[in-house]
Amino acid sequence: MRKLFALLGMLVLVLPVLFGATKAANVTDLHWVTRNDAPIPFVRMVFSLSSPVHATASISASGTSTTLVLKNATLTGIPTSIVMDDGIAKSATLSQQGADTVVKIETPKAIDVEDLKVFTLKKDTVNNKPYRMVVDIQKKGVAPRENYYGKKPVAPVADKAPAKEPPKAEVKPTAKAAEKPTAKPATPKSNPPAKTESKPAPKQQITLPTVPEKPIPQVVNYRTTGGISGKTIVLDPGHGGSDPGAIGPTGLQEKQVTLPIAEYLKSILEAKGAKVILTRTTDVDVYGPHASGVDELQARVNVANGNQADAFISIHINSFSNPNVGGIATYYFDGSEQSKKLASSVQGQIADHSGFNGDRGIQPGNLYVLRHSFMPSILVELGFISNPKEEGHLKESSTRQAFANELAKGLELYFGG
Ligand SMILES: [Zn+2]
Repeated sequence: MRKLFALLGMLVLVLPVLFGATKAANVTDLHWVTRNDAPIPFVRMVFSLSSPVHATASISASGTSTTLVLKNATLTGIPTSIVMDDGIAKSATLSQQGADTVVKIETPKAIDVEDLKVFTLKKDTVNNKPYRMVVDIQKKGVAPRENYYGKKPVAPVADKAPAKEPPKAEVKPTAKAAEKPTAKPATPKSNPPAKTESKPAPKQQITLPTVPEKPIPQVVNYRTTGGISGKTIVLDPGHGGSDPGAIGPTGLQEKQVTLPIAEYLKSILEAKGAKVILTRTTDVDVYGPHASGVDELQARVNVANGNQADAFISIHINSFSNPNVGGIATYYFDGSEQSKKLASSVQGQIADHSGFNGDRGIQPGNLYVLRHSFMPSILVELGFISNPKEEGHLKESSTRQAFANELAKGLELYFGG
């Protein structure tokens, strides 16, 4: 296939033709997300459109530059220069060339046809989503890293601006709290107020970011002591609906494991007097099918923030290209002492789960659901679905129940007696 590229120089690869795409369309929005929970990590770009478009894609002979042409499509005030994931797809520049929108994507290494996928999504009136064109770029051999979900907050630029100036703090998973984008509350996690059960402390007042889909209360008020009874705990079974999450060697899907564990955990915690809310109770997307990463994750965060949870636990199963890798890890938001404490309590219970490859420790992670939730929050990775042995255990309800018991124990220890 590569030889063919060399011969042709520029090869047209994809032609998603949408019938009825006769009138001019506007390109109204662009989101991107790095997905590291798939067996091969990929960057997904989602273009919102006012109506269907014809599009073509081509990869340069060098393999490091991919060009998309959206025919008869007009850019309308969206960023024309975005910095993405420097491991998979570094940057994209959008330009208006006559009636067409041209998108140029730079990748750090050469990609080929199998690494590029372009498809379209119909208008979704139920979830109020427009027509969308989705571009997935993967790079085989890129080791999975922590998830980072982001919409690049770059303002539209009037004239040509190169894509090169990298405000890296906003792109790297290791970005510190202080370097985060501006549309965020003033570090609610760094000064936990810890209202006690008997004598209520003054409520912590912070300004919340604008969340158009679902208004959330303007007060953050979580409790960290006094036992688990009476606490509000939001559990987030990772993935669901159109998003299977990671998939194991025999086809077990992450979303099929995370929900039963959350359900077991809910009943255990309720028996201990806690109020428990799940972000989803069936196999559905929380925001809507095929939403962008940000919309979907923010919808989950909204459940925790909107219910003024005392703790938020997102439940996931890990995945890696090497099937021998396994074990259990807990992520917390760096800079939140209470989240770190919660992570330690929980990891101490789940880490030595029999049949799994052991303790991968607690790790700071700049994960969307942790960064945007206002209460102590953790994300647990209960083994690797890519590891055949661990996948086998994850199929068993006894394993799921045991994880739920251990998670409950960790929460109980965190809230104290
Ligand atoms: Zn996951």
